[in-house]
Amino acid sequence: MRVSGGCLCRAIRFEGDAEPQFQVTCYCIDCRKTSGAGHAAMMGFEEGAIRITPGAREFASQADSGNDLVRAFCPACGSGIYSRTAGMPHLIFLRASVLDDPALFTPQLAVWAARAPAWDPVPGHLPAFAGAPASDQSGRG
Ligand SMILES: [Zn+2]
Ligand SMILES: [Zn+2]
Repeated sequence: MRVSGGCLCRAIRFEGDAEPQFQVTCYCIDCRKTSGAGHAAMMGFEEGAIRITPGAREFASQADSGNDLVRAFCPACGSGIYSRTAGMPHLIFLRASVLDDPALFTPQLAVWAARAPAWDPVPGHLPAFAGAPASDQSGRG
């Protein structure tokens, strides 16, 4: 698919022509805090398939899985752009929230569903893991 998007102020843009390998919503605490909603929506693409304007600010943290995780956002307007996890180093996860056409995103899976707040429930039709797939369930993904 042809994918494009970018932040609110348009300083950071991305584009590519690739098929997403992984489409997921995550309700972990860290994703909730950085998303501005109850969950983050992410599309994983092969690293290198997406061209991104340089200059996004990166914030690193450690998930309870032990994997280092980097979330990138626009330093001017704060929009979340992408993330990377050491657990899947060949993928870059674009935030579906900053797609030009949000209809391109088709969630396949919800993770950390046990953390979903009552005001942002996991859709009933979506396969869901209570925690991280094949990991512990201590609260942050
Ligand atoms: Zn911006
Ligand atoms: Zn998460």
